[in-house]
Amino acid sequence: LFGSREMKILMLGLDNAGKTTILYKLKLNKIKTSAPTVGFNVETVAFRNVKFNMWDVGGQERLRPLWRHYFPATTALIFVIDSHDRDRLNEAKEELYSIIGEKEMEDVVLLVLANKQDLRGALKPLEVSNYLQLGENLKNQLWCIVGSNALTGQGLVEGLSWIANNTK
Ligand code: GDP
Repeated sequence: LFGSREMKILMLGLDNAGKTTILYKLKLNKIKTSAPTVGFNVETVAFRNVKFNMWDVGGQERLRPLWRHYFPATTALIFVIDSHDRDRLNEAKEELYSIIGEKEMEDVVLLVLANKQDLRGALKPLEVSNYLQLGENLKNQLWCIVGSNALTGQGLVEGLSWIANNTK
């Protein structure tokens, strides 16, 4: 088929950031309530001419050492942030840099989703990217930050479009 392609996308972030909600919003266009992800969910999401094989890996602290097993063959990383949970932003930042500091992840394109934009008091995408110091620290990596609301799906198509447009 003309121009069709397939890629692996890894979706990571702290527990409770909204990863599983995002995955099922994209997959089914509906909200699936689920228990916290222990292990992983993987779904194929067809978008324009791209088949995204999306891996949502549990984010609880005890599960994070397992993340690196999912790194090989990843084209894009979606790192999901709970923009409303200021207390855990620093923890999220540390986890993000530990992931992209890994050799296997140095060429991935990075989409940060500043999720939960619907909540009053949530940090705006620009505030999240300033906090994470993405501009200063990511000199060689293609990255982008998009605000999202996983409950309505707002921002998700914009994010996937950016990935589709910035990968081969
Ligand atoms: P995960 O641990 O990263 O997979 O997070 P979940 O997808 O399980 O979401 C954690 C909680 O946050 C659930 O109660 C979701 O309904 C809620 N949630 C996820 N995204 C949003 C959002 O954009 N806005 C709001 N208000 N709640 C959200």
